[in-house]
Amino acid sequence: MRVRFAPSPTGHLHVGNARTALFNWLLARGQGGTFILRIEDTDLERSTKESEQAILDDLRWMGLQWDEGVGAGGDYGPYRQTERLQNYTDHADRLIAEKKGYYCFCSAETLDAQRKAQLAAALPPKYAGTCRNMPPAEAAARRASGEPAVVRMRVPEGREVAFTDVVRGLVTFHTDVIGDPVLVRSDGIPAYNFAVVIDDEEMKVTHVIRGEDHISNTPRQILLYEAFGYTPPAFAHLSLVMGPDHAPLSKRHGATSVREFREKGYLPEALVNYLALIGWSPGQNEELLPADELARRFRLENVSHSAGVFDEDKLAWANRHYLKLCAPDRLAALAEPHLRARGQVVGPLSAGAQAWLVQVLPGMAASVDRLPQLADRLEAVFRPPGAPLENEPGLPEVATALAAELEGGLRLVDKDTFRGLAGRVKDRTGLKGKGLFHPMRVILTGAAEGPELDLIVPAIDLAASLNHSGLAAVASCQERAAFAARLLNS
Ligand code: GLU
Repeated sequence: MRVRFAPSPTGHLHVGNARTALFNWLLARGQGGTFILRIEDTDLERSTKESEQAILDDLRWMGLQWDEGVGAGGDYGPYRQTERLQNYTDHADRLIAEKKGYYCFCSAETLDAQRKAQLAAALPPKYAGTCRNMPPAEAAARRASGEPAVVRMRVPEGREVAFTDVVRGLVTFHTDVIGDPVLVRSDGIPAYNFAVVIDDEEMKVTHVIRGEDHISNTPRQILLYEAFGYTPPAFAHLSLVMGPDHAPLSKRHGATSVREFREKGYLPEALVNYLALIGWSPGQNEELLPADELARRFRLENVSHSAGVFDEDKLAWANRHYLKLCAPDRLAALAEPHLRARGQVVGPLSAGAQAWLVQVLPGMAASVDRLPQLADRLEAVFRPPGAPLENEPGLPEVATALAAELEGGLRLVDKDTFRGLAGRVKDRTGLKGKGLFHPMRVILTGAAEGPELDLIVPAIDLAASLNHSGLAAVASCQERAAFAARLLNS
């Protein structure tokens, strides 16, 4: 089995295309096949090297490593279409010699006028066939005189083209609705439908898995396979990924590219797992599974042909799961850019600060959807001591008691130390439960809400004890308590 993902490098990798890449990858990995990456860069105006690089990076970030293709080599290269142009020209020459293709000299204006006339007559627009029966000698002479020409395929008349799509079942098209398509433009650049057939044949692709936006191209491609005497691969057209309003997922729905979801703080394994669930199910009422297990269970036959809706809440649910599983070292590395963006990390991190992140972040990750929310959780650490929110009941007493208990330099570096202190503040004030812990929270964290005190209080004092850490300044619990006591009792 040989499958391929064939992006056009004209922008960022859309999650719909990422899902196409993933389904190819799952099939190849699960069945011991080969996953090929081919870059379809024949749209010279819109293709860029930056976009190609971004797509490669995004695929690697998702863990969808390819076995053959751009950046990986292989026996059937080159894998970038602009490096295969001679091959397409040779194939076009062959079709012309066999009268399965012909030169067309129609100008853009002629074609445009024909199309308008057809539309006015309520006919489906298609090439009128003006040059279809031009004697080859005349075509050769006009070519020799330098007249620009495209190459078109001679589509057989009165035929039905049928194929059994692995996802959608039997699909049929009548050739009478297909105008002779352009195979090679006058500048020598092949059309998508032409290049894709030659490449899939030469790269020995056995299964073409792509978005259903290509389904109307498939009969044209099948006719080209026939014209060359090649056996077509199996085709599977995946339904498109829709927004909540059932229109194809686009910018107006919000984030659409892998890059944007990555920047929003989703983990690659969460995105991969979630995308696999759009239009497919691993079965056994299980949804959250690692990629290798998804691959083991993946069957193209079980992919649904109905459109899948992209549900960011469900992606967030998967992300919560993987954040909890994330190894502490990796979590710290993933979180760092987000903390930096929020001014919580300001310089190169010291070993102590690294260790602090590794220790503190897993506790915080248990209650967030996305990486930037770790910075929300850490706000309590970096908030400078300020005026407590309001002078609520209990605040002055608790501030006084806390300040007195911490005066001697006690550092609340773990849960037990904090609990011991809380017990003594309780004894001093006679307050308990919420009446005790709410004022403590306000005084020590500067906010009425936030992570559990057992977690955040030690995080504060541990961070406050670090020097030249690369973290933003952190006031100790002692400083916070002293500040509040002064303010409230003045
Ligand atoms: N370059 C095409 C695209 O990005 C590939 C279609 C195909 O897989 O055949 O849509």
